[in-house]
Amino acid sequence: MTRSANLGFPRIGLHRELKKAQESFWKGATDAAALHTTAADLRARHWTLQRDAGIDVIPSNDFSLYDHVLDTSVLTGAIPPRFAGIDDPDQLYFAMARGTADAPAMEMTKWFDTNYHYIVPELHAGQAFALDAAKPLSQYREAKALGIETRPVILGPVTFLSLAKAKDAELDPLDLIDALIPVYADLLARLAGAGAQWVQVDEPILVLDLTEKQKAAFRNAYDVLGKAGPSLLLATYFGSLLDNTELAAGLAVAGLHIDLVRAPDQLDAVFAALPKNKVLSVGVVDGRNIWRTDLDRAFGLVARAWDKVGPDRLELAPSCSLLHSPVDLDAETALDVELKSWLAFARQKLDEVAALSLAQKRGRGAAKPAFEASAAAMATHKASPRIHKPAVKSRATEAIPLDRHSPFPARRDRQRARFKLPAYPTTTIGSFPQTSAVREARAAHKKGLLDAAGYDAFLERETESAIRIQEELGLDVLVHGEFERNDMVEYFGEQLDGFAFTKNGWVQSYGSRCVKPPVIYGDVSRPAPMTVRWSAYAASLTDRHMKGMLTGPVTILQWSFVRVDQPRSQTCRQIGLAIRDEVLDLEAAGIGIIQIDEPALREGLPLRQADWESYLRWAVDCFRLSASGVADDTQIHTHMCYAEFNDIMPAIAEMDADVISIETSRSDMELLEAFRDLKYPNEIGPGVWDIHSPRIPSRDDMVALMRKAAEGIPAAQLWVNPDCGLKTRNWPEVKASLGHLVETARILRG
Ligand code: GLN
Ligand code: ZN
Repeated sequence: MTRSANLGFPRIGLHRELKKAQESFWKGATDAAALHTTAADLRARHWTLQRDAGIDVIPSNDFSLYDHVLDTSVLTGAIPPRFAGIDDPDQLYFAMARGTADAPAMEMTKWFDTNYHYIVPELHAGQAFALDAAKPLSQYREAKALGIETRPVILGPVTFLSLAKAKDAELDPLDLIDALIPVYADLLARLAGAGAQWVQVDEPILVLDLTEKQKAAFRNAYDVLGKAGPSLLLATYFGSLLDNTELAAGLAVAGLHIDLVRAPDQLDAVFAALPKNKVLSVGVVDGRNIWRTDLDRAFGLVARAWDKVGPDRLELAPSCSLLHSPVDLDAETALDVELKSWLAFARQKLDEVAALSLAQKRGRGAAKPAFEASAAAMATHKASPRIHKPAVKSRATEAIPLDRHSPFPARRDRQRARFKLPAYPTTTIGSFPQTSAVREARAAHKKGLLDAAGYDAFLERETESAIRIQEELGLDVLVHGEFERNDMVEYFGEQLDGFAFTKNGWVQSYGSRCVKPPVIYGDVSRPAPMTVRWSAYAASLTDRHMKGMLTGPVTILQWSFVRVDQPRSQTCRQIGLAIRDEVLDLEAAGIGIIQIDEPALREGLPLRQADWESYLRWAVDCFRLSASGVADDTQIHTHMCYAEFNDIMPAIAEMDADVISIETSRSDMELLEAFRDLKYPNEIGPGVWDIHSPRIPSRDDMVALMRKAAEGIPAAQLWVNPDCGLKTRNWPEVKASLGHLVETARILRG
């Protein structure tokens, strides 16, 4: 019989119970037992909920106290030597994730193209592995004790090594595959011994461009692991197998999961390649987004798969783990009813999988209410005037020049004449400390305890004080401080049409950190100016230059749940037009320097290199659309952080911002090499203060960094600024560090 399956459930809990338990444990307010009790309660709740939803194949070991890649480092005994002295397993685990006084945390980076961050495995030459199977075994048994048979999930060895970082330059982590295979084989044998019939092995790396070495590692690994005990379901997601289809289908495993939401087109190629005895798991419900599934359409895919592989070899599932979805739409009691009818969170997605599976087994009539509700939602969605705004759509098709009026050299001359900035101008990236006073005032205002006038007056005082501090420090280009903003995307989303916000739509970003992305459900437009009031107010308080501060269209897109009924590029263009209007309004209000932040531009890169060019084309064009309307003597800045630039350098140059500030201090200015190699013509502010660290850099540190920068970039192009916004720092740190920063510029000028 066709089976309904799930690949992973969100860990955080509907009310972010895990976050609270983790943070309380870290503070020492509660002990490890309390943390483990909360974790076990969450697991039990989520297993039960999946069973009650009618899911036949329920995962275990998808839960994690921090991150599943970190779990895999522990599982395989890949503990970096600097943590070797820590005996207590909980202390060791969180030390690896978060660092200790003596041992810096392991690195963290984004999981494929999601906003989830994993802890990067650290391996060294001669790395030995040793199995620690406690977690997968105990969680499998824990579910069994509740009467729930599960399919344990593990991260596969090739993806694990591919995501790992070698501590020695000569080591390629993949060279360790032969050492790792026995550990995995042992684990699988033990899981089988505990009763597991099937194990889900996640190898999402299969949707990327693979080297021959990776392909060989796959064959070697699964030749052994396929015989280790349990039947293996090889799970791929986030994209199409493309040229890896034969490889994936031919591995010695019992089943293959494919993502038919991201990549429905791969179905035929997989049919052709998949041996007749293998199970095919089709991911037909979107695990990455919050839209309700069109059950009729999904059923079409299911029917095709059923035709090919027959009922006994077919499994229906979400496209990927539901880790990337919020937990339960039912908790959204304040959401507009119609909008809500278009959405599905993790729980609802399981209901969709169950409905599809029921229809598959007993005919569509058996799941009639679910199919009818889905069809009704699709119909209202298609026709809703709240989504489709003819005026916005038609404006987005207008041809608008993307080039500034004049090329950079001419603009630079006009801007120099207008702003008369000294060499090595100093500025900051936008935000100043979001102190508890700021957060409390915002919360009080939200709760209705502080009225609009009171809140406004509070923000005016904060802004004015930030300006006086910047004047005293002697910065050249000031900012207003962003005190009125909760978050750099939410603040804009709240003022744009086409965006909605949930109360509880949290997804895990890393560790205990969760984000609540805005929902872009309709055509985006800007009913009224969004930032002019604060920028103009700030400018009125000082004779110095005031920089207006905006979030760019690509970043707004990237950090939201985006509609899927039109291409992302089209949604981005609508946002670009809204930002363009804001830029022009700022300019008209006398703000001559405007920064359009695009920290997420690089992370939007598609997983396959073949798709990079078209993405970069529209992403860069949307930025240019937002910036190109201003006069030559208006100076456009952009800002990017946590990014490597080498591979996208031409695109950065095409953005043609007059000034770009980037995060460089931690890389010791290495990131500047790409700018140097390209002879990047516009101005650059390489960050000289790592704002993620509480450490106050000395003037000498900053001078050294700037001198290093000046080796590759002509001095006339350089600005002096921190790596990023200062919202997470406190005022004493900010004053001290910015004091050193201003002195640095004076020394360089001297
Ligand atoms: N202007 C924003 C700030 O200063 C930029 C934040 C970011 O790059 N992530 O906070
Ligand atoms: Zn930044």
